[in-house]
Amino acid sequence: MHSTRNNIFIYKITCMEKTQTDIGIVGAGILGLAHAYHAARAGLSVAVFERNSEALGATTRNFGMLAVAAQAEGPALDSAMRTLAHWTEISARADFDLSHCGCLFMARVRAEMDVLEEFADSGSVIAARSKRLAAAELEQYGSGLNFKSSVGGLWCADAWKVDQRNVARKIALWLQREYAVTIHFNTEVRAVELPFLQTSTGQFRCDQFIVCGGDEFSTLFPEAFQSCGITRCELQMLRTYPQPMQWKVQPFVLGGLSIARYDAFAACKSIAALRAYQQQHCQQYLTHGIHVIASQESDGSITIGDSHHYGRAHNEPDGGISQRNASIDELMLQELNTMITLPEHRIQQRWLGHYAYKADTSVVKLSPVNGTTIVTIVNGQGMTHGFAVAEDVINTLLGSDTSRI
Ligand SMILES: Cc1cc2nc3c(=O)[nH]c(=O)nc-3n(C[C@H](O)[C@H](O)[C@H](O)COP(=O)(O)OP(=O)(O)OC[C@H]3O[C@@H](n4cnc5c(N)ncnc54)[C@H](O)[C@@H]3O)c2cc1C
Repeated sequence: MHSTRNNIFIYKITCMEKTQTDIGIVGAGILGLAHAYHAARAGLSVAVFERNSEALGATTRNFGMLAVAAQAEGPALDSAMRTLAHWTEISARADFDLSHCGCLFMARVRAEMDVLEEFADSGSVIAARSKRLAAAELEQYGSGLNFKSSVGGLWCADAWKVDQRNVARKIALWLQREYAVTIHFNTEVRAVELPFLQTSTGQFRCDQFIVCGGDEFSTLFPEAFQSCGITRCELQMLRTYPQPMQWKVQPFVLGGLSIARYDAFAACKSIAALRAYQQQHCQQYLTHGIHVIASQESDGSITIGDSHHYGRAHNEPDGGISQRNASIDELMLQELNTMITLPEHRIQQRWLGHYAYKADTSVVKLSPVNGTTIVTIVNGQGMTHGFAVAEDVINTLLGSDTSRI
């Protein structure tokens, strides 16, 4: 057995303090829970510290989309597939739905369809599980799809959905039940000098410490965050009231603005012409980083997003509602209306979401002091990659580095 693992176990036996664990983790969002899962599965004792009464960060504010289809072939796709395998196992054991809903790209203009066609013919792994669609074929994928104003589309099988509103809660309960992971809710970690953690509810001890605080850079190791050049992305989201009972759209529905943003399509030659078209015709959408995804929730409501603004602050007491820009909502709804006609238009919820952002990378891992690892997924795809990223981190800590991303 590797010496790091030995040290952890020796320490565990010799130090039987009630609040002592092998691994302490900050954050009960998906990344903190994924680290807790892999560590506990490896036989380590784990304590998670979450400043709120439950996860309230990006993990509960997103689409719940496991966007395998959006990945470029290679390490990113491998990581998404590995994460999906973990989701599949955990959903069965932790009792939550993982629905295989796929995603539907709708093309309104020829430049969008050119990319979808080139992609469909590319022979890639995702393309092999996709289907090019004529406009009339779009109708079969859901109620209200505006197939008459489309030139065609692409169905990709590789997208799955979890209910982002409660999945972290269910995983947290399951980790406590199944692996005796201790989760200290309402407990903010304020300072770290291993083996001691100073928190809002007292002192704890752990051998290794992992920070999965999402886009929170100011409480712990602010200098480390600052020097690595990380920033934040702010996203605006909406949700309608439930649609009528029989009205169903199973897949995530996306349009041309998403085609231009997703890495899966980046290798297509025709993407340049699409980007040029959008520069000319979609400038106000590009200004706010808008690309529209619509996703029907189990209660029939439609989650709609999103816009992207980089480098924004957050943490307003009202969850940022006061900062929301109504014209961005209007633009998103206008774009949605070109894709779907909703019988129930009324919006029941509007919110902001934030994630950590750093250009040209997908994961930031920092080691500001011995025994401490900071892990942040910075491309807004923590649901899609979280379990693979965490698996690599825990394997590295245990001395069996299988890092593949
Ligand atoms: C609007 C939006 C849409 C998105 N859509 C998708 C999608 O469809 N698919 C996808 O894969 N990804 C998506 N993402 C990205 C994804 O949601 C994030 O990458 C992921 O949730 C990040 O998880 P996390 O655990 O790192 O952070 P978070 O979920 O933000 O959790 C961090 C937690 O740490 C806690 N914390 C921080 N500091 C401390 C401290 N000192 N002490 C105690 N607790 C602390 C916070 O309270 C918080 O609960 C989206 C993100 C947003 C905002």
